[in-house]
Amino acid sequence: MTPQEIMEMLHAEIKAEKNLGAVASYIPELGKVNPDYFGIYLTSIDGQRLSAGDWDVPFSIQSIAKVLSLSFAFNLKGDAIWERVGVEPSGSPFNSLVQLEFESGIPRNPFINAGAIVICDILCSELENPKEELLSFIRRVANNPNINYNPIIAASEASEGYRNFALINFIRSFGNIHNEVEEVIDLYFHLSSVMMTCKELSETFLFLANAGIQVDTGERILGVSMTKRINAVMQTCGFYDEAGEFAFRVGLPGKSGVGGGIAAILPNDYAIAVWSPRLNTKGNSYRGMKFLEQFTTLTELSIF
Ligand code: GLU
Repeated sequence: MTPQEIMEMLHAEIKAEKNLGAVASYIPELGKVNPDYFGIYLTSIDGQRLSAGDWDVPFSIQSIAKVLSLSFAFNLKGDAIWERVGVEPSGSPFNSLVQLEFESGIPRNPFINAGAIVICDILCSELENPKEELLSFIRRVANNPNINYNPIIAASEASEGYRNFALINFIRSFGNIHNEVEEVIDLYFHLSSVMMTCKELSETFLFLANAGIQVDTGERILGVSMTKRINAVMQTCGFYDEAGEFAFRVGLPGKSGVGGGIAAILPNDYAIAVWSPRLNTKGNSYRGMKFLEQFTTLTELSIF
């Protein structure tokens, strides 16, 4: 079977099974999405494009965007960012406060909320118009001028963002937030609200499979060594406290979001995006995990 046939077969099989898990509802707007959407898109460096299901429906990529803000900050500041945020898996939920107390406000990694908020603070220090410049960076990486924030989701997130406000104030009390709390958290909520289709998401992530170079434009987005490091952090920290399970079952570096999206890459080969809004108890897409496990097993296209 070809990878396209395998993709279609798995999509149909998994769609026919019961869709378990729950849509994230702690952000009111996210709770409104149809839980049965299920899309997949794969883009390869050599120009292959495979797809199945609802691959052209835009969704809120949520924490997947943390890979893009990290890439931007890493590019601007280099290794200095690692003085402000670590690279170890946290082993605790994405929005947890507890480790910060013991570790003096230095978040474990850039993909838990605490770490992504510190990365947003770095962007606020480095940029004149952080929201606009971050969006331009994302559009450049995606080679797509139509990518946008969703202001309704950003506002919805702010309306219930008590834990993120607690996190940022707590980190600031340790001196690891340098800008006004309101400015930084507004950037963080907008980052989380970025909308993409599976197609756009896989195209956006392809530079990470291609040693940091945007495939269509040939533009270098990140150095080779920086790309290696981002991929390593995705491998170890990209799936909340289920990163070990994802490596074990799927075997690709990637990042998930509470909108039900997963983006993953196979270095020197492809980027894949899967979206299905129902989440397992760890906050990762139930169908997304299931699909990727079987897809990488049957195609033998994983890093292990
Ligand atoms: N915007 C979300 C939050 O901070 C991001 C969650 C996620 O996708 O992990 O709650």
